[in-house]
Amino acid sequence: MKHVDVAVIGGGFSAAATIINLLEQLDPDRSVSVVGRSASLGLGTAYSTPDDIHRLNVPAGRMSLHPDRPDDLCRWLEAQGQPNRSEDFIPRPLFGAYVQDRLEHQLRRTDNRARVLLEDAEAIDCAEFGDDRQVFHLSNGEWLSASASIFCIGGTPAGLPLPDGRIDPAARRHLCLNVWADRWLDRVAPDDTIFMLGSGLTMVDQVMSLRRRGHRGGIHVLSRHGLLPLPHQVPRSDPLPPAVVPGMGPLSMMMRSLRRAAAGADDWRSAVDGVRPVTQAIWQSLDMSERRRFLRHANAWWNVHRHRLAPDIRAAFDGMLDTGQVTVSAGWLQEIYASDGRARLAYRDRHTGTLRQVSADWVVNCTGMEKCSISKVPLLKKMSARGMITGDHLGLGIAVNAQSQIIREDGTAAATAYALGPMTIGRFFEIFAVPDIRVQAKAVAGRVAAKRCAA
Ligand SMILES: Cc1cc2nc3c(=O)[nH]c(=O)nc-3n(C[C@H](O)[C@H](O)[C@H](O)COP(=O)(O)OP(=O)(O)OC[C@H]3O[C@@H](n4cnc5c(N)ncnc54)[C@H](O)[C@@H]3O)c2cc1C
Repeated sequence: MKHVDVAVIGGGFSAAATIINLLEQLDPDRSVSVVGRSASLGLGTAYSTPDDIHRLNVPAGRMSLHPDRPDDLCRWLEAQGQPNRSEDFIPRPLFGAYVQDRLEHQLRRTDNRARVLLEDAEAIDCAEFGDDRQVFHLSNGEWLSASASIFCIGGTPAGLPLPDGRIDPAARRHLCLNVWADRWLDRVAPDDTIFMLGSGLTMVDQVMSLRRRGHRGGIHVLSRHGLLPLPHQVPRSDPLPPAVVPGMGPLSMMMRSLRRAAAGADDWRSAVDGVRPVTQAIWQSLDMSERRRFLRHANAWWNVHRHRLAPDIRAAFDGMLDTGQVTVSAGWLQEIYASDGRARLAYRDRHTGTLRQVSADWVVNCTGMEKCSISKVPLLKKMSARGMITGDHLGLGIAVNAQSQIIREDGTAAATAYALGPMTIGRFFEIFAVPDIRVQAKAVAGRVAAKRCAA
């Protein structure tokens, strides 16, 4: 069995940011093993798309891999001969190329850096021995032991919000359950009618891909609130000082204060952006019942204001709304069944309470990827059965402490096992986007590197 000082499990942005930081901070006599699919290392779900109509929803000037070198992406774009305006919402495949290039640069460097082993595999099981040894079984049959481990395995795609019994098996051939894996767009005919469940950024991506392919059929979008992501404004107004601070009072008071600041600002976005630096601290200051209340009553509103679209993408989408090709409804899906060679859907309208029916050639799940569900990930299921991990109180991800150390079932923190990115959403809430993950990756790499210095 191989032994390394640090194992990084995962192959997306969180893993790439972690590896880059580790190689900058670890002593050169230490070793790192990266367990993930090598060909797509650094891309993960968000940046694997080949479609350059899928754009960043954060401007390039805020998407550097390094919190302390904010111009790194713009400098890379310039070196590639690309326009490098920091306000641009660049294609996601281009951002993926940046991440991979910076990662490859670190991996090619041989001077004065830790040794790196790439395991083109998945971790299928993990056990811990004491506080400073994790042993992994890999999908290529190998075993790996590590003195510290950093789990970066991302979120899990949300399922359709319907019990299995409400989906007619005969309608299943019309379903696309995972837009990132199913390659459903290649099978769509230009006049097909499409029903999309979810009205957020994932839905907009899919609609933009259809538009680029010259799709002519109608697209019906349904979500619980029927809210669409709002556009960024360019140029961006400077963020205001936070209208909400941790501990200022109950959630209702915080929401009132934020709404008032947004209404009084020249551009409401500057009030929302003003809260960004303190969102994690505010979330952690709320007790569990307030966090639940926020998720139930305010999260949909927060999402559309906070996770915004490139303005030209929103304008293109609005054009499709204006022609009537796209329609958006608010309500709850009740049932999917097969009828006349198509899928027939029943949903309850949010505003009238009436049951409505629509037929579609395709039913596309665009409800996103925001949770890390232990029960859906075999590796996590096994670790949970061993008591090595436990879900956070809200069931959003896995429990970690403020240092991102994994909390075991018995409530103790693992000294040398960490989790990063969307897996830790229950603790940090605002930990989905690059500007937040890069800070966490640097901090965790620093802690792992410092352990040895302290020893
Ligand atoms: C469609 C989309 C668009 C986004 N756009 C933006 C944006 O414009 N700006 C922004 O700031 N943020 C954006 N985000 C959010 C953000 O970039 C992601 O949250 C971030 O990339 C998460 O990276 P991750 O590595 O933690 O997870 P993931 O990207 O999910 O990657 C996890 C990786 O781990 C691998 N893995 C899983 N299990 C195992 C295992 N057992 N062993 C080994 N490997 C494993 C997976 O194969 C995958 O490669 C977007 C997210 C999505 C989904």
